[in-house]
Amino acid sequence: MNDGTPDSGGELRSADLLRDYLEGPGLDLERYDAGNGRGNLVARIEGSDPSAPSLLLMGHTDVVPANPEGWRHDPFGGELVDGEIWGRGAVDMLNLTASMAVAVKHLAAASFAPRGTLIYLACADEEALGAFGADWMLRNHRDAVWADCVLTESGGFAMPLPSSSGPKLPVIVGEKGAYWSTLRVHGTPGHASMPLRTDNALVKAAEVVRRVAEYRPATTLDGVWRAFIERYDLPPELAARLGDADGVRAFCESYEDLGVARELHAVTHTTFAPTMARGGVKTNVIPDVVELQVDIRTLPGVRGPEVGAMLDEALGDLAPSVEVVADSDDPANASPFDTPLWDSLQRASRALVPNATLVPLTSTGATDARFFRALGATAYGAGLFSERISYAEYGAMFHGNDERVDLESLRLSSELWRAVATDLLA
Ligand SMILES: [Zn+2]
Repeated sequence: MNDGTPDSGGELRSADLLRDYLEGPGLDLERYDAGNGRGNLVARIEGSDPSAPSLLLMGHTDVVPANPEGWRHDPFGGELVDGEIWGRGAVDMLNLTASMAVAVKHLAAASFAPRGTLIYLACADEEALGAFGADWMLRNHRDAVWADCVLTESGGFAMPLPSSSGPKLPVIVGEKGAYWSTLRVHGTPGHASMPLRTDNALVKAAEVVRRVAEYRPATTLDGVWRAFIERYDLPPELAARLGDADGVRAFCESYEDLGVARELHAVTHTTFAPTMARGGVKTNVIPDVVELQVDIRTLPGVRGPEVGAMLDEALGDLAPSVEVVADSDDPANASPFDTPLWDSLQRASRALVPNATLVPLTSTGATDARFFRALGATAYGAGLFSERISYAEYGAMFHGNDERVDLESLRLSSELWRAVATDLLA
């Protein structure tokens, strides 16, 4: 389990397990030791035509910690209960990492001899910064993992929105950026026994938190959003509502399905979430400084200066007494979706789910796809799930309690990888 420290993770154990599983004719296997027990496994089926597009199936092997107290089954037991596998990582993303391994093994066993190269990467450290995983591989062993097309977590889970035609399956084509910031609120120290008219940094910080939380940044309906609305084939009234900035805002403020409302809001807005506060030294001292952490997730085109302007707007007359320090500046990224990879994914999905149509969607969080997009690859978050687990439950399981996946979803995802690889590379 990866708690963000270099000595956690232990992903070499997963790399070894996957190597043992994949070992056999038709696959070139190589384990890459990144130190500290961290490491990655690469499996390759070389293509016959170097000019043909190549495909990387990329899954991470690390998971975030879990507190067993909130779970109905042991989060590290991997129990199969009534057709569902329980445990941390069941949807984020050991389900996909494992189903990719199954697909690659089956292709190799069937003597798959593609024109384009197929690569499987089981990588460490996605849940922190990729410093031992995808980013590390691209920096140190780029030739082993580089591909024109990349599939990773996570899509193919039908949203509970009405559609006039068949099932709509989201594919992640881009990710929002992260501009995590510290807001340092200054005051003047003094004796807390005489608080009247003091310059108390904590009191000011409380108002800063309130203003940031209530801030409503402008709505942005980008190309991914427009294509999502169009291809979803929504009832006309809803399509008109979601195709309009004021309509989207009103919809998200009032729609009863909280998961959908939050997600649709997050993909159409740069968001600001105050998450941590630290300040004060002693009960009887008026604090002179309080630090607030704000998780800021940016839309494409929104960088430091734009975030600064938004914070100024949010803080109003308090802006001059707040110092903003950027802790991370990972810009948003996106791949086009008029590509051969998209077409292969569409054909493969429809063969498994009758009448299914893919719809592009932006991810609110980051995945390892960002490292490959930054270097010019087309990267999507994909997958395929049964209808057994609801969208609300599915969303709540990421880094949450009672994470599990049903066997039919595992079958669908492994069939999907196999079909896309055959369609794109053969
Ligand atoms: Zn993940």
